[in-house]
Amino acid sequence: MNDTAQNVIILGSTGSIGTSTLNCIRRFPDRFRITGLAAGRNIDLLCRQIDEFRPEKAYIADVKSIGRLRERCGSKVHLVEGKDGLETLVREASSDIVVNALVGAVGLRPTIAALKKKNRVALANKESLVIGGDLITGLVADGWGELVPVDSEHSAILQCLSGVKAPATIESIVLTASGGPFRTRPLEGFATITPSEALTHPTWAMGKKITIDAATLMNKGFEVIEAHHLFSMPYERLRVVIHPQSIVHSLVEFYDGAFMAQLGCPDMELPIQYALAFPRRLPMNGKRLSLSEIGTLEFFEPDYVRFPCLRLCIEAGKQGGTAPAVVNAANEVAVAAFLAGTIPFTDIARVVAAALDRYAAQPATSLDAIEAADAATRRSAHETIKQKGLS
Ligand code: MG
Repeated sequence: MNDTAQNVIILGSTGSIGTSTLNCIRRFPDRFRITGLAAGRNIDLLCRQIDEFRPEKAYIADVKSIGRLRERCGSKVHLVEGKDGLETLVREASSDIVVNALVGAVGLRPTIAALKKKNRVALANKESLVIGGDLITGLVADGWGELVPVDSEHSAILQCLSGVKAPATIESIVLTASGGPFRTRPLEGFATITPSEALTHPTWAMGKKITIDAATLMNKGFEVIEAHHLFSMPYERLRVVIHPQSIVHSLVEFYDGAFMAQLGCPDMELPIQYALAFPRRLPMNGKRLSLSEIGTLEFFEPDYVRFPCLRLCIEAGKQGGTAPAVVNAANEVAVAAFLAGTIPFTDIARVVAAALDRYAAQPATSLDAIEAADAATRRSAHETIKQKGLS
């Protein structure tokens, strides 16, 4: 370990993005040093990570697990506690880079805390930008920190834009979407989709919440909003194309008709490592893309009738203000209810549409306004589900 190593905090260290980030960091111990780890409830894995990486500070969200974590690891690491623990961890551990791999709206405050520390935020928590896009891009524009996307599509766009001197030459951005597990399933069969069917993604291995969002295409809607904020691109110039092979990770179209695309195997370690080292590239071994083995790359227009969440999300993005926060909160409640077996798959979109109908969007220029919209929507979404008067 040397003094030029960058200090890295990982929020969500035991999840899919977190463990992949640690794989990247293991390859470059001279470049990156882990200083903070935050997990949800996986004590065993968090303890192993603490043993291996010896961070300054650690945090576990599940309050019932704190005592056991203290017993097992309390002598090796300073444990941060309390309801603002994620922000405290970000503020108090040494850091240059914060990898935010949290799930849901809970990721917004730690993103802001990291930016206020003038850190790089390697952002996998897309909800930060979906609900707090105006706030976060405002902070970055004012010189507070740096935002580098981890999401594979946005990483692809960033890679396509490297070396582009004049943003005015960009005509549009095309986000690719696998289409999820129900791309070809007839609409009549949607109401009987089970959680285990929806949790089987054809090309990407991810956490539960994002896998359901990928099945409804809500995830792609969030990514449109994310791209709008990250690349200052109006919604009229953001497009979605279904690409079942997940090889072309996204494209940029220029005003002379040229397209740039980034291709690769569907493996999150590449965009994670790119976000850590940006604007440099670091070497990576492993599976290489063989175009002749794949043979065919397909592209289709998205079906907004079968996947209404995509349309709802883009509408909310265009509406702006707290509308995306409303969509996100309703979706978080609806996805949890679907996974619990309380509502059918098709009701996810209905709960979101009802929330968006009911709530008058406000400007999203303060954390208070965003969190008020989030809390009010969660309450009303729970009500909607309880009443079951949906269809
Ligand atoms: Mg993505």
